[in-house]
Amino acid sequence: MNICPNCSSDNVIKAGVIKQRQRYKCKSCNYYFTVNKLGKKIDDYYVNKALQLYLEGLTYREIERILGVSHVSIMNWVKKYGIKRPYKGNYHPSYKILNHDELQKYFSSIDNIKGAGVVITELGDKFMLIKWERFKD
Ligand SMILES: [Zn+2]
Repeated sequence: MNICPNCSSDNVIKAGVIKQRQRYKCKSCNYYFTVNKLGKKIDDYYVNKALQLYLEGLTYREIERILGVSHVSIMNWVKKYGIKRPYKGNYHPSYKILNHDELQKYFSSIDNIKGAGVVITELGDKFMLIKWERFKD
């Protein structure tokens, strides 16, 4: 069974063979893709990351920009896994994407984590810092 990497629909049909790889067309969003382009493992990785970021309060568009995954896919995953944010309204975290050296520098200054704290999630070859400032008004 194949899943569209653009919108996660399984409504796909065969659409020829290119460079010895089966090509498919998604009937939901008309996206063409070949198998093995996005392995199952990588796929799961992005699903997890997208849902984490969603729970942290980021918008679909922000997650799309950060992960390079279509916001339509993210909306589908949120629906598919029944993810609900436990809070409402105007809480919105700030975030930074840093490499390992920058991360160390960031943590060497107490001012960067005092009064808020951060959550770190791996993002490709970098790290994403999500700063929690929920107690700041
Ligand atoms: Zn699709």
